[in-house]
Amino acid sequence: MKVLVIGGGGREHALVWRLGQSRGVEKIWCVPGNGGIAAEAECLAADVGDVRALTALGERLGPDLTVVGPELPLVNGIGDAFRRRGWPIVAPSEQAARLEGSKIFAKEFLLRHEIPTAGMIGTFESASKACDALRAATWPLVIKADGLCAGKGVFLAPDAASAKDFIERALDKNELGPGGQRILLEETLEGDELSFILVTDGERYAPLVPTRDHKRVFDGNLGPNTGGMGAYSSDELLPPKPRAKILESIVEPTMLGLAADGIPYQGFLYIGLMLTRSGPKVLEFNCRLGDPETQAIVARMDFDLAEVLADAAAGKLDAAKLRWKPGASVCIVLASGGYPGKFETGKKIEGLANAEKIRGAKVFHAGTKRDRDSIVTSGGRVLGVTAAAASLESALAAGYEAVGKIHFEGMHYRKDIARHVNRVHAAGD
Ligand code: AMP
Repeated sequence: MKVLVIGGGGREHALVWRLGQSRGVEKIWCVPGNGGIAAEAECLAADVGDVRALTALGERLGPDLTVVGPELPLVNGIGDAFRRRGWPIVAPSEQAARLEGSKIFAKEFLLRHEIPTAGMIGTFESASKACDALRAATWPLVIKADGLCAGKGVFLAPDAASAKDFIERALDKNELGPGGQRILLEETLEGDELSFILVTDGERYAPLVPTRDHKRVFDGNLGPNTGGMGAYSSDELLPPKPRAKILESIVEPTMLGLAADGIPYQGFLYIGLMLTRSGPKVLEFNCRLGDPETQAIVARMDFDLAEVLADAAAGKLDAAKLRWKPGASVCIVLASGGYPGKFETGKKIEGLANAEKIRGAKVFHAGTKRDRDSIVTSGGRVLGVTAAAASLESALAAGYEAVGKIHFEGMHYRKDIARHVNRVHAAGD
């Protein structure tokens, strides 16, 4: 099997690494890849948002399977373009990707199918009408830009003044770009968050192990939001009872809703959940795997990933094939100095080989590139140091021991991955 992976971050490195262990895989290309992926796959340059360019590449390479990491090619319709040509691909349709591409589309879907989610106050295109609606609001309140806004589209407003400011910046001053020209106001949910990701062939689905990510830059969940500073997965993260509740009250009605609405969905569906006192509720859908959740998930896989994904692309997914290593995994993101604000690149990374000597550890590259014989930083999130072990304690010990071997100027990371969380509420109660 020849496999094409689209994307160039830590998530794609993790996919490439696991796909490379599949028995039937003889070749992997990655577009555009990065400094770490280059050691495990042939990296090719292309704009991942440009579906025509990716189709031309597909024509030239003739992959037996294509796996898509980031949302942009999905929202731009790569799934439809490849399937129309009969090329197997793990990617939801353009229509299905609207579950991620439009928060309003997703909220209407959730409400239509009575899937538990934060109550909606309204959707608005006019700042004055949105501000009028604030009078009846209770605080804090969540404001979401409808479209993709590079992670800046969600605001937890503590009071009316800050809400008004965000609304005006989005709708009047157009500061969030085209994704911010419509907004959604919704109630704030309280609880612990959980990422519940599944793979589906359009009819059948198979859940992946649950994960939790850490979005804030500093320990104790302080500082600004990032793309994700780490993630973990463990058997204890989601006990059987709340897991059953999630399947019954969220996953099943979502799958039935997609079918009832005639939305074909072949690929990964990421369900961001808040485990509230009154049960699990949907915060968001993503039409792809999360990053860094993927790194933690891939570390626990004990099955042939290429085979399962080829089955999903062919519409014959067999959930029984997904087997998981018991225990836990962690991913600790090492970031450039200054990230998520301004940062410098081109810093030489040392200690990578020593880090991978730690039992159970694997270093996934995100923002790196090769510079002659060295690997240097090329982005904000640089590496995802990942470890799997029989318990969360030993996965954390291996992960942080591996982190201790790595150095680059300005490097920073969270020291409390899997620590700064409350225990899961009994979400099913
Ligand atoms: P989203 O992109 O919709 O998942 O929002 C990003 C983050 O904002 C989530 O991971 C939550 O931490 C937070 N968030 C979004 N919606 C809500 C909500 N209704 N209540 C509380 N927090 C929320």
